Amino acid sequence: MNQGDFPEIISKLPQFGTSIFARMTELANRHQAVNLAQGFPDFSPPSELIDALADAARNGHNQYAPMPGVLKLREQLAERIYRQYQFQLDPGSQITVTAGATQAIYTVISTFTKPGDKVIIFEPAYDSYAPSVLVNGGVPIYLRLQEPLFSIPWNQLEDTLKSGDIRMMIVNNPHNPSATVLSADDMMKLVKMVRQYNTLIIWDEVYDLLTFDQLIHQSALLYEEIIEQSIVVYSLGKTLHNTGWKLGYIVARSELTAEIRKLHQFTVFSVHTPSQYAVAAFMSEFPEFFDGLAGFYQEKRDQFYTLVSDCGLQWLNTKGSYFMLAGFRHLGNITDMEAAQRLTELCGVACVPISAFYHDHYDSGILRFCFAKKKETLSEAAFRLKQIHQHNIFNK
Ligand code: PMP
Ligand code: GLN
Repeated sequence: MNQGDFPEIISKLPQFGTSIFARMTELANRHQAVNLAQGFPDFSPPSELIDALADAARNGHNQYAPMPGVLKLREQLAERIYRQYQFQLDPGSQITVTAGATQAIYTVISTFTKPGDKVIIFEPAYDSYAPSVLVNGGVPIYLRLQEPLFSIPWNQLEDTLKSGDIRMMIVNNPHNPSATVLSADDMMKLVKMVRQYNTLIIWDEVYDLLTFDQLIHQSALLYEEIIEQSIVVYSLGKTLHNTGWKLGYIVARSELTAEIRKLHQFTVFSVHTPSQYAVAAFMSEFPEFFDGLAGFYQEKRDQFYTLVSDCGLQWLNTKGSYFMLAGFRHLGNITDMEAAQRLTELCGVACVPISAFYHDHYDSGILRFCFAKKKETLSEAAFRLKQIHQHNIFNK
């Protein structure tokens, strides 16, 4: 090879660039905007958890963890699942600790998707699902959730399942970005439909503890009829305010778990050891921490809503997750990407355009705002959003 001649790069993901979350965060930083775009808290995890991390490192937990995760942590996770859903898990064979939910989802998809396999993805969808399917040669079958309530398109789903050989389906509940949750009726309908087929279901339940107004999260673990075909994914970053620790876990029956671990061991092998010990210690000392989480975020949701309700945007209901959606089309006819950019640059508040969650960039004029922020941050964002009209944001 001559100097300057490089091997041709044949992209496996030619249609994707940098994720919208990274792009909006970069834009927010460049314009000193309040970043309500990427979903992460701007406050610290509990100080006891940080102390536990330092203790873990000082106490010698600095080498490889066991491949499926530190057993003490898996035991704590099994306990938390039991407390929440009265579902008994064997920490030895049914829980695998991962480097966040994104890796968990990728590993599960890679484990079970062969070239040509069809995978149902409901849109709007978290941005990692489709690339994870595509890179494995799978074929995403996109079904659009129906606005205004982002409900499941039942007839279309039934027809798709009936049409045959659907390998897998991904269901995200509570849902990012729509902030909706599935009701018990929805779940019963879904369970009845899918149990007739041998389709695997990845349940992305990373926001399972964030449901509001006394709504009970309808975890897949509450529905015994589909346990055999279910793989449930959680993220500790969402529940311990430490998204940067990148800890998640996969729950699935032993046979599925064994297969998932085969791939996990060759891609990640094991996850950051001190963090696992720290979370295990924290969870055993403060088992009630998670019980307060819904109330904590409901207060933030209500604060944010009260602060921004009169800024001119049309706010939609948040039933779960830490996001709130707002429509802007009544104010002007620009694309949602332009709207998000102009809000960031001119108003100083960054958000995410919902078209980024659709493979075809379907755009119904909705923006997503993250309210996992300190009260001062939410107040400052609201103050700036009230200047929407002054800046004439939504008109070219
Ligand atoms: N699924 C959904 C729906 C998410 O919103 C996110 C990111 N917040 C993830 C998965 C990934 O979680 P993690 O940060 O643990 O990789
Ligand atoms: N899940 C977060 C969101 O929806 C971001 C995760 C990421 O940046 N990949 O904003």
